[in-house]
Amino acid sequence: MGAKIRAEGARKAATAAIREADRAEAEAWSLRMEGYGGPAQPSPSIGQCLNGGYGFLQVKCHRCDTEASIPLGCVRQPRDTPVWKLEPSLKCRNCRKGSFAPPVHMIKLTEEREITPYKWVHPDEEDR
Ligand SMILES: [Zn+2]
Repeated sequence: MGAKIRAEGARKAATAAIREADRAEAEAWSLRMEGYGGPAQPSPSIGQCLNGGYGFLQVKCHRCDTEASIPLGCVRQPRDTPVWKLEPSLKCRNCRKGSFAPPVHMIKLTEEREITPYKWVHPDEEDR
């Protein structure tokens, strides 16, 4: 009985420690992106950002400077996908012409949505 409780306690502590580590990693990456503009690689995974409490990726269109918050929880990519790999799939709706879209810049991770994303093509949308 005591051993079982100890095991549960240790498991809880481990989960909390992982969350703490994920949060620290997401935060460090975000600070690097915002403060120094990169490098974007290596980056934490989508799952690590979500686990650490950073649910949104703030991005900016290189052409029109429109910014958007991408909800990481809605991105249908494997949770172990590094965040930097999302960049090519992010497109500005204003600037997209056919299959061409100007590159976007990842700014930082945020805990709350700071900007409405309505002008942005969702990463899951197919090019048509
Ligand atoms: Zn744009």
